[in-house]
Amino acid sequence: MNRIPLAGVIGSPISHSRSPQLHRHWLRQLGLPGYYIPMDVSTEDLRTVLQTLPKMGFVGVNITIPHKEKVLDHADLVTDRATLIGAANTIIFRKDGIIHADNTDGYGFIENLKTGAPHWDARQGSVVVLGAGGAARAVIASLLDNGVPEILLCNRTRIRAEKLSDDFGNRVSVVDWVQAGNVIEDSTLVVNTTSLGMTGKPELRVPLDGLNKQSIVTDLVYTPLKTGLLKDADARGCTTVDGLGMLLHQAVPAFERWFGERPPVDEATRTATLR
Ligand code: NAP
Repeated sequence: MNRIPLAGVIGSPISHSRSPQLHRHWLRQLGLPGYYIPMDVSTEDLRTVLQTLPKMGFVGVNITIPHKEKVLDHADLVTDRATLIGAANTIIFRKDGIIHADNTDGYGFIENLKTGAPHWDARQGSVVVLGAGGAARAVIASLLDNGVPEILLCNRTRIRAEKLSDDFGNRVSVVDWVQAGNVIEDSTLVVNTTSLGMTGKPELRVPLDGLNKQSIVTDLVYTPLKTGLLKDADARGCTTVDGLGMLLHQAVPAFERWFGERPPVDEATRTATLR
């Protein structure tokens, strides 16, 4: 019997997630059978839930805060990039019973950048990354993969940035958080991977005075779509790329694996996800 494929997103809390709108839009648009369900799961229940879902017809799930790191302990197979990043955002329940963990955040980040700033050349110069959390690890892995020669990493908690630099090698140098404004001058790209600037959080206060017009500025935060950082960079004539596209693009490989068709990312996808 052919079951209707089920997928979803596991996190806690989960009500803020935009992934259900996104996947449901694609299922409808492509006329595919399937359902996508948000699931609030505690850390204690994570293993049991992951073992039970495939028996109920689930083909995979997205994983979000706070389970992205912990989920690696419950997977049978972890891709090299998820291992390097130390976190997974996508689980595939294989037909042979294997729980396969991958991380597509870096892919989503680069595809978003290619769409929003197609003229950006990874090999041309240094990139400033603000923040050293889980998302920063995915972003840095993808930037290095794409040939960025130097990453200047600034994080409020310096030791966290130093650990990240140790893991990723000598193309990643740590710069003090308070020095961030001084190192952006020569960068081709500035990336905010902190949660600052998100609705309900304080603003990111890195002075952009030294920023040149050729630099691209992107933010992983997408609520609001135009963060204070992006507004400031816009006003200085820089190309800016918002974080929503990353969310959309990171979902593409997962949707394709689960439901069998590669979905498009376009204006209709953005609108449906924000609805
Ligand atoms: P995380 O692991 O908790 O890391 C949070 C980062 O923000 C750390 O670098 C932390 O610095 C910094 N930070 C938090 N509060 C700060 C403050 N008051 N001052 C200075 N720095 C502060 O979170 P994450 O998983 O990396 O996610 C980070 C952001 O990216 C979130 O807003 C998340 O929604 C967003 N995100 C977006 C996408 C997308 O698809 N667009 C994908 C993934 C994540 P410390 O180390 O000093 O605490």
